[in-house]
Amino acid sequence: MSKVLCVLYPDPVTGYPPHYVRDSIPTITVYANGQSTPTPKGPLGFRPGELIGCVSGELGLRSYLEGLGHEFIVTSDKDGPDSTFEKHLSDAEIIISQPFWPAYLTQERIARAKKLKLALTAGIGSDHVDLEAAARADITVAEVTGSNSVSVAEHVVMVALSLVRNYLPSHDVSVAGGWLIADCVSRSYDIEGMHFGTIGAGRIGLAVLRRLKPFGLHLHYTQRHRLSPEIEQELSLTFHPDAESLVSAVDFVNLQIPLYPSTEGMFNDRMFAKMKRGAYLINTARAKLVDRDAVVRAVESGHIAGYAGDVWFPQPAPPEHPWRTMPFNGMTPHISGTSLSAQARYAAGTLEILQSYFERTPIREEYLIVHGGALAGTGAKSYGLT
Ligand code: NDP
Repeated sequence: MSKVLCVLYPDPVTGYPPHYVRDSIPTITVYANGQSTPTPKGPLGFRPGELIGCVSGELGLRSYLEGLGHEFIVTSDKDGPDSTFEKHLSDAEIIISQPFWPAYLTQERIARAKKLKLALTAGIGSDHVDLEAAARADITVAEVTGSNSVSVAEHVVMVALSLVRNYLPSHDVSVAGGWLIADCVSRSYDIEGMHFGTIGAGRIGLAVLRRLKPFGLHLHYTQRHRLSPEIEQELSLTFHPDAESLVSAVDFVNLQIPLYPSTEGMFNDRMFAKMKRGAYLINTARAKLVDRDAVVRAVESGHIAGYAGDVWFPQPAPPEHPWRTMPFNGMTPHISGTSLSAQARYAAGTLEILQSYFERTPIREEYLIVHGGALAGTGAKSYGLT
């Protein structure tokens, strides 16, 4: 019997289950790159469209795991020495966590997790796990690659439009009973004809570019490997050899790269100084890609016109985090990759990975981040450890 420790975000304060505003979600069977959506065997322990990413939703895994005789602990109590997470850490064989409410698996915690074999990210982005320490301890790290890429891409499009149109402050005027049109439009522009650049054009970054193409933007990107000439031509892309070159050419910078040691702090005062005055920065990748206080300085000085995204450090962010209140921010809690649609896919992918693990069949290559003591699969392609 194995102990499976699962950390999920808390239930809605209004109670669980919530009232659902729709009766179903579309069925997606294949992603844009041809990869199939998760294909677990047998019944799902949930109805697609249900809220399963919170504690009471349990990712729909309880009947599967308990049916096999495993112990399944689900908690949102993840931080501090007296947390439920710490209590079960030493004898957990599998830890499931979501980036939205991450159970940080530091080197110290990994050293205490003597029985840990599988750290499973229900979602995408496993930087809450110390990947080097996991590799040394021969822990497999896996995530549900592709599961919420479109969810995040849609969020990026939403905040790009919201920032440039000054949507959120204008909405506030409407709620407050006002009609201050001149105030609302003093910083409202059309997006058409502007230059949009993404740092990282992988699954999400490319999906963003494809979705923005019809808006008549000039599209730019940079990453270590160039996209195919066909894709560059299809989207009329301008390639930049590095981030510095891209940021000085565009009106929007979108961060869509993984966080690992050499990408941490990429956006510091120096990088902001290279951005055009009045440009916008969007970051749905990871908070630590940017220097927290440099963002505040850049927005407050008016050098950049707005910052939006949904990733913070730590998560949950403390109430006094300056991004909550700095001007012209379009921040949300980390929600972009956990729409009800995304949850259905990453919960099914979590089940698929668990089935592979317990049946001793290979986990899909694209789901692997660390395996056999080294970066593997998607981890080997997207992460660098230096
Ligand atoms: P992919 O691996 O598909 O794409 C990442 C891209 O980043 C790759 O194309 C890679 O290209 C590029 N890249 C990596 N390192 C660098 C670098 N140093 N400089 C420039 N480009 C780089 O990942 P996804 O698109 O699926 O996800 C990206 C990130 O988004 C995740 O790692 C995660 O942190 C975040 N995410 C956030 C979510 C949310 O809910 N907000 C949900 C899902 C993901 P190349 O190797 O050629 O450089």
